[in-house]
Amino acid sequence: MFGTYPGAGFPGHLQPGTGWVEVICGSMFSGKTEELIRRIRRAAIARQKVQVFKPRIDDRYDAQAVVSHSDLRVEGIPVDTAQDILEGVLPDTAVVGIDEVQFFDLQLIEVVNILADRGIRVVCAGLDQDYQGRPFEPMPQLLAIAEVITKALAVCMVCGAPANRSQRLSASESRVIIGAHDTYEARCRRCHHAAPVSAPEQQSLPIATESVPRPTVPEQLPMNFRE
Ligand code: ADP
Ligand code: MG
Ligand code: ZN
Repeated sequence: MFGTYPGAGFPGHLQPGTGWVEVICGSMFSGKTEELIRRIRRAAIARQKVQVFKPRIDDRYDAQAVVSHSDLRVEGIPVDTAQDILEGVLPDTAVVGIDEVQFFDLQLIEVVNILADRGIRVVCAGLDQDYQGRPFEPMPQLLAIAEVITKALAVCMVCGAPANRSQRLSASESRVIIGAHDTYEARCRRCHHAAPVSAPEQQSLPIATESVPRPTVPEQLPMNFRE
């Protein structure tokens, strides 16, 4: 799914010292962190020095590591500000990953540009919309400066369609609430409500409720949803 974009593999087609910016965006559970980890691992296999940063506020699965909802993980460096990323990048680092970019302010754009101008490949992942479906800064600005953009889709937990919204399941109206399965679920445009809903609506979907839910194709969906 994500293998066909320019720069997916070893960046041998570029001039040495040419940096660029890749952005992986989408809703919660769309596979952004999995894809970030995949790219970082491939760069490490290519013997490039990698560093992955994440906002310290995101300690859902681990204080240090960058962890996907499916429990893929890679070593991470928690930081408080975009400036901390700039100061934390080592002189021989070739690839910088940044997860959950929506928790940084607009200074991130400047920092990402400085790193890419230095010749670093910068891979950023994060939400493109908040729980109300509004563009989530600094993602719009990041998309504008990126060379390569990947939009990931999750599976709607109500109807099984491709989903690009994050439905909040708790009553709070604060823009930022750190959470995962207990607080949010992926929904398509049709099933998403801008206001938080207090309870999941997907009783008819046979979603497993183990610690890492694995969505399955519901029986009652039309054939064209089956792969
Ligand atoms: P993101 O970083 O976009 O929030 P992750 O990469 O951490 O997502 O996790 C993606 C994984 O989440 C999927 O591979 C799957 O195992 C799991 N998952 C849970 N709910 C869903 C859903 N509604 N749609 C797709 N994947 C889901
Ligand atoms: Mg993630
Ligand atoms: Zn839906």
